[in-house]
Amino acid sequence: MSLLPPPPASRPLGDSGLAISPIAWGMWRLTEGGTTAEQAARRVHAALDAGITLLDTADIYGFNGQSGFGDAESLLGEVLRAEPALRQRMVLASKGGIRPPLPYDQSPAYLAEAIDTSLTRLGVETIDLWQVHRPDILAHPQEVARALDDAVAAGKIRALGVSNFTVAQTAALNHFLGTKLVATQPEISPLRLTCIENGELDQAMMLGLTPLAWSPLGGGRLADPQTPREQAVAAALDVVARDQGVSRMAAAYGWLMAHPSGIVPIVGSQNPARIAEGIDALKVRWTRQDWYAVLVAARGEALP
Ligand code: NAP
Repeated sequence: MSLLPPPPASRPLGDSGLAISPIAWGMWRLTEGGTTAEQAARRVHAALDAGITLLDTADIYGFNGQSGFGDAESLLGEVLRAEPALRQRMVLASKGGIRPPLPYDQSPAYLAEAIDTSLTRLGVETIDLWQVHRPDILAHPQEVARALDDAVAAGKIRALGVSNFTVAQTAALNHFLGTKLVATQPEISPLRLTCIENGELDQAMMLGLTPLAWSPLGGGRLADPQTPREQAVAAALDVVARDQGVSRMAAAYGWLMAHPSGIVPIVGSQNPARIAEGIDALKVRWTRQDWYAVLVAARGEALP
């Protein structure tokens, strides 16, 4: 049975000129449980030493509903200040545009302020990939585009992305941007197939956007499947994992990476060994039959 193409060891981030690893590490959960700078540094090292170079954060990470806005960026900033050479080893991604309790604000003045504040917290001169975290329905895409183009022109941002945008919202913002989008970050996992089916990944291929998959394990549910559907997906992944000597998690990341749009799963674990294990996903090879078996398990019904 012929195999689907293997993931590349490195891939371009759209036409930004930046090269990234085919799997990323995310810091949504970085501050959970009162993480110290030493613990955070161990996780950053685990990712970079394993060859995971795209590191994803956001200004809202650390926010617990009342306070903590900016804390995950500040903690990463502390790690970078203690060891400045780490900055050169990573492609640094962050996001903004969620502003509790509004909930969203993408007015030009707020975007400019949010980007400046993120740079200060992180202690860096440039954010490599800055993403609009969730769409602000009240912001005209032309205004958003102008604010983002200004930040690029000022050297504060190298490349632009969106997250949780519909196909039409992505197209509208991209239309007005001088510096076009290079990435989109939807929720994608074997437990969440929406953007495989609603045209988001087709749009990504058409526009040359790198899809970054958030919650690639369904927020951890694939590690501990409970429902019959979750168990069926886990079983389909386990067939390949067992056969190829990798964990179910690596098989899940690999399943996403086998999609022709070049999905980059964002590992969400905060455990250094599990972060490093993410790179095992590069070893996994898929036949069409095994890949579709996971899809069918996730759909809960055969394809027509
Ligand atoms: P995930 O990989 O689906 O879930 C990670 C969770 O699974 C962690 O709590 C982890 O716990 C747990 N887990 C249990 N066993 C595991 C194992 N064997 N291997 C790996 N993880 C295991 O990802 P996520 O954390 O929900 O999201 C990943 C990233 O996506 C975030 O960090 C963020 O960068 C991004 N994100 C973006 C958005 C957005 O709106 N753009 C939203 C959510 C997330 P341990 O830490 O104990 O391993």
